[in-house]
Amino acid sequence: MTTLHVAVVGKGLIGSAAARHLAEAGCEVTLIGPDEPADYRSHGGVFAAHYDPARITRIMDRDPLWAGWAAASSSRYAALEAATGMKFHHPVGFLAAAGEGSDLLPAMEASARVFGTQTLTDVQHPFRLPPGTAIRFESAPGGFIDARRMVQAQTVAAVAAGAKVVRLPVWALRTDNGLVRAILDDGSEVRADRVLVCAGAFSSAVGLAPGMPLQADGRVVLLAQVEDELAQRLSDMPSLIRVDAAADLTDIYLLPPVRYPDGKRYIKIGTGAISHPLDDLESLQRWYRDGAVGDDAARLAQALFGLLPDLEGTDLRTDNCAVTTTPSGYPIIDWSEPDRIAVACGGNGKAAKSSDEIGRIAALLVTDQLDDPGLAASLRA
Ligand SMILES: Cc1cc2nc3c(=O)[nH]c(=O)nc-3n(C[C@H](O)[C@H](O)[C@H](O)COP(=O)(O)OP(=O)(O)OC[C@H]3O[C@@H](n4cnc5c(N)ncnc54)[C@H](O)[C@@H]3O)c2cc1C
Repeated sequence: MTTLHVAVVGKGLIGSAAARHLAEAGCEVTLIGPDEPADYRSHGGVFAAHYDPARITRIMDRDPLWAGWAAASSSRYAALEAATGMKFHHPVGFLAAAGEGSDLLPAMEASARVFGTQTLTDVQHPFRLPPGTAIRFESAPGGFIDARRMVQAQTVAAVAAGAKVVRLPVWALRTDNGLVRAILDDGSEVRADRVLVCAGAFSSAVGLAPGMPLQADGRVVLLAQVEDELAQRLSDMPSLIRVDAAADLTDIYLLPPVRYPDGKRYIKIGTGAISHPLDDLESLQRWYRDGAVGDDAARLAQALFGLLPDLEGTDLRTDNCAVTTTPSGYPIIDWSEPDRIAVACGGNGKAAKSSDEIGRIAALLVTDQLDDPGLAASLRA
């Protein structure tokens, strides 16, 4: 029997995970996608949602499918770290906080019960929360992952299992004589039996996922610099998600002090409550390149200082990123061209922690081993 050659387009969180699972399953794998650009401002290519050292990981979720994917993925973090010698998981704990009238905590509690996750309702934490706020704490594996490092670890593991890596963007896919040709930036091509598109927010903008209801959505994050003494005081700060209908930003998340590539430590705050639809390649590139922030930064700063007043007066900076949303709120893991081109896209702002399981499911799809044939359709519904 000949070995199935799968080209995975997109060396991000889902693509690198899928490539590892495919290579470990015995496929010939070519993982195609560029590294992070050295200079965003002059970069004319594609960008990614994983250029960050701190993405929240938690099992508790409003939605049992997402909770299951997070549980499955986080159960494999330690093995991936051990196999590659690359640490990316920081189990500092996760706190969910909900204002009066919110249904978040009962829904999270239900998913925690399903996956045997212990939660606490009364823990010490550094946040100033309004009266009436209820909390749930999830200990390890809750916390955060270094998304850049996790992509590196998955890629190293994929290569160890035999995958090749081509560090260029793909600008077109053509189906020819039973093969798919991925046309690369330098005009060369990779021919494969099947292609799996995992190009995140750029999948639709570049035309690699025709007909798939994927929407790119720009997000601004605010980074507050934390000096050593404060970082020391906040050393046991968990990751936080807070929903509160009475707040200016109804839905925010916060990461503990983490060292960034500029050598400084920052606390990061972001929100899913402000949306910036990005409908084509040019607007996506401009979003990453030019870093427009409107009043997002001021509103995030107000939310941050409300929660951690000690941060007032500290140096602030912003980062831009883009998530990929779908009508169902789940990733799309399905064929866009039957038996030739599949997609695994649409992290909906929460797939970093679950990327290993999403990549594994996509690997099963492209090797015809998905034992739940209704899954692809139910994720799209
Ligand atoms: C501000 C922000 C905060 C977030 N916070 C969290 C969080 O706390 N917890 C969490 O779980 N998730 C979080 N997420 C979501 C998470 O980062 C994404 O769901 C995840 O990165 C999706 O993985 P992906 O592989 O689909 O996309 P990406 O990680 O973006 O990877 C896509 C890859 O495709 C490549 N690519 C693009 N176009 C092409 C092309 N034409 N050819 C080849 N390669 C291409 C890119 O270079 C990139 O490497 C956050 C996202 C953002 C933006």
